Amino acid sequence: MFDLKDHPHRRYNPLTGEWVLVSPHRTNRPWRGQVEKVPPEQRPVYDPGCYLCPGNTRAGGIRNPQYESTLVFDNDFPALLPDTPPGWFERGGLLRAEAQPGVCRVVCFSPRHDLTIPEMETSAIGRVVDAWVGEYSDLMMRPGIGYVQIFENRGAMMGCSNPHPHGQIWAPSAIPNEVAKEHATQQAYFETHGRTLLSDYVALELELGERIVDANGSFVVLIPFWAVWPFEVMIASRRPFSGLDRMSPQERDDLAAVIKSLTTRYDNLFEVSFPYTMGFHQRPAGEESPFWHFHAHYCPPLLRSATVRKFMVGFEMLATPQRDITPESAAARLRALSTVHYRQRGEDNQGGFK
Ligand code: ZN
Repeated sequence: MFDLKDHPHRRYNPLTGEWVLVSPHRTNRPWRGQVEKVPPEQRPVYDPGCYLCPGNTRAGGIRNPQYESTLVFDNDFPALLPDTPPGWFERGGLLRAEAQPGVCRVVCFSPRHDLTIPEMETSAIGRVVDAWVGEYSDLMMRPGIGYVQIFENRGAMMGCSNPHPHGQIWAPSAIPNEVAKEHATQQAYFETHGRTLLSDYVALELELGERIVDANGSFVVLIPFWAVWPFEVMIASRRPFSGLDRMSPQERDDLAAVIKSLTTRYDNLFEVSFPYTMGFHQRPAGEESPFWHFHAHYCPPLLRSATVRKFMVGFEMLATPQRDITPESAAARLRALSTVHYRQRGEDNQGGFK
């Protein structure tokens, strides 16, 4: 009899229409690699050489204000430029290009150089949520913006060039690939069922329970049935709403709280500052989209320890992503972890956790 726990199978992602190969039997393979711990990184509260610290000068000579919670500014090295002239290129129907104007912003989460999201107080993460709401609302109103992608790359492993806690916002004129896929699937589901895809999915997961990591009054934190990365997580709102700007004050607070608890569990998993790429998916600019259900994706690369990461190579790059550890066992591990940060344990709120 086919068993999800034992037999190789593929799982369907209804948000993208794609599949992931799951090989649960391979987790029984002997693992001879070293399980390394990395020495804790000590960073100063203020770094005079950091272009994101308060009062420091950035590229181009702009000086950061003495900000006290968050700071948002136009990226000094943007991938998109607002004054890109419209235009396109086409040859034989096979070579196609089009101009892509847009805006790139940087969001500093804290004036403190030494903090990360899980080490910040929930109220301080709330100010970051407020900044995201403000930027999303503002950029969605600007002419020529098609989509607002808010994201954070955390850790050198994810290509993050500066440890000062910060995220980015890229807002291009066109709807990007992953968002376009989720737009189409959610629209089709809503037209058929009259409910959002993620409302029904979250209800199903709450009923089954085995992939739930955490939940509060407004949000559910779970490992999707179709997750690709070993500890990939989705944060989905309980109430169907289409974007950050539609949150109540309570939902803003609750979002900050699940972000804090999830990222703390992540750090506690291998007792390391856990690298990831995270970002929100929400309605594109333009028409109101009742089928869009606000959610965040967290995609961390680590697999077995602070230094052993998963690679997307070979079959995964050329055919279909694959995973060994099942989403159910990954969820059980994250669920079992403390929401007290490992660096804070045994200390009485000393250094770095103000
Ligand atoms: Zn999504």
